[in-house]
Amino acid sequence: MHTKTLENTFFPYKIEDASSQHYETIVIGSGMGGGILAATLAEKYKGTDKKVLLVERGGVVFTTHCLNTFGSRTTQNNNIAFEAQNNTKTYNKVKEKVILEDSSEYVGGPIYCLGGKSNVWGLMIRRIDKATLYKYFPQTLADSLVNEYYKKAEKFMTNNKHTPNPSSQNEDEDHLLDTLKKINPTFKWSLIASESNTHQCYRVARGAYSVVDKLMEIAYNPEDNPNLTILLNTKIDRLENSDGRITGAVTYEGFTLKANTYVLCAGVIESAAISLRSKLEPKEYIGKCITEHECYEVGIIAKTHSKDINMKLYAKGKFEDKEPYLLYIYINIQKNEINNYPNFSFGYCTNTELIDTNYVILDEESNNPKVKIQRSLINNNKIDHINKQNSQIIQRISETSNIEFISKDYSVKSPIPLGAYCHEVGTLRIGKVVDENLRSYRQKNLYICDLSVFPVSPPANPSLTLAALALRLGETLASSK
Ligand SMILES: Cc1cc2nc3c(=O)[nH]c(=O)nc-3n(C[C@H](O)[C@H](O)[C@H](O)COP(=O)(O)OP(=O)(O)OC[C@H]3O[C@@H](n4cnc5c(N)ncnc54)[C@H](O)[C@@H]3O)c2cc1C
Repeated sequence: MHTKTLENTFFPYKIEDASSQHYETIVIGSGMGGGILAATLAEKYKGTDKKVLLVERGGVVFTTHCLNTFGSRTTQNNNIAFEAQNNTKTYNKVKEKVILEDSSEYVGGPIYCLGGKSNVWGLMIRRIDKATLYKYFPQTLADSLVNEYYKKAEKFMTNNKHTPNPSSQNEDEDHLLDTLKKINPTFKWSLIASESNTHQCYRVARGAYSVVDKLMEIAYNPEDNPNLTILLNTKIDRLENSDGRITGAVTYEGFTLKANTYVLCAGVIESAAISLRSKLEPKEYIGKCITEHECYEVGIIAKTHSKDINMKLYAKGKFEDKEPYLLYIYINIQKNEINNYPNFSFGYCTNTELIDTNYVILDEESNNPKVKIQRSLINNNKIDHINKQNSQIIQRISETSNIEFISKDYSVKSPIPLGAYCHEVGTLRIGKVVDENLRSYRQKNLYICDLSVFPVSPPANPSLTLAALALRLGETLASSK
């Protein structure tokens, strides 16, 4: 007799059962891409005899809601781990080691568990700006994101009937936003993926959005969700492939799982590794170009004797060479409270084209992925631009508001380490490996739905776009005969 656990009570399904079934769709990996896709298919297939199997390599590691990780982060200049469970600190504890080529400087890595990295992510959801979207993504896909799926994804990730419009809680916040708008008129409140029913969503009133929440809801209520089965602790090793079709997903232990359609959602490194172990084509693009955009961050300690200020803001900008970036400012200052951690931070996400000398290959000894990832040359003009702009903003705020900046050195010196944000993309990209519907050019019943499909590392956090792609793919698969 074994002890009753969350896992064996709500995920009783066994690999032996799964291997004797034939599914409509097998989704491999339950992270941001796979989790949203599987939940969408579970809903869309209701009332039909179509069944989805979601295969996840790990187990249930986190609580049913996203960890209470939301908050200011450890930053470049103030390397202090603060708050019980800030997301960077938690991520550093739980991520897996990746085999690296000597020349790589990479601090990222996968998290193998239900929900993948959606358990520890930072909840920042932003659209890719239209200019970038139309430059790098196929036009039909860009059109459908702009006209339909971004809005759907925002609603989905805020679990709200109406997309919330964050707004201020006092006149000090209004005044601060007005001041910033005078420097850059595009400054706005940022949407936060929180399951709140208030318009002030950035305050995370009810709980952070995580894929796990939806999947646990399904696991707790199997009678209402007869079309989805979740198989935990099962690693897919490779896909069987014959005459341009996938004929089975083979587990690490050698079981073969069968379906009409297969969707790879194992993350930017592991989806590439599964494709390489399966010898998928086109060989010249599989696993190539893993890239993370350059991001810059600095945190400052600030105080106020006036009202609390709790704002997540962003603005669009361009460097001198016209390359776009996204600037975000997070402020969390409590009246009369002086902390020893940064509570006013600047972050910059730049646009970075895929770097064709980076790659994921298979380590000859272990057959596990081996990664080479390097950044493009650091451009000091960009760093100068950032420092000049930050100084201007700080000076203007000091002159016009009740905020006093305590830290005196707030200059940015280099980008944050590669992989720290987990925004790596590009190993199975749209236009080379999959088409605008995320369907493989070579294997007609294979789709890919994770960060590996991005054709650029855009000037925006990527998860909203991935969620939009997953919702779109769910509708496409559900409507196909
Ligand atoms: C600290 C931190 C903060 C972040 N903040 C933000 C943010 O604010 N905004 C934003 O947009 N993004 C943010 N991100 C990035 C975001 O989390 C990722 O973009 C997103 O989760 C990637 O989703 P994915 O589906 O591609 O991969 P993952 O989330 O990595 O999911 C892959 C899944 O596949 C499973 N898997 C792997 N291999 C196999 C296999 N062989 N067989 C079966 N299953 C397998 C894994 O266990 C995992 O569940 C952050 C990430 C981190 C770590």
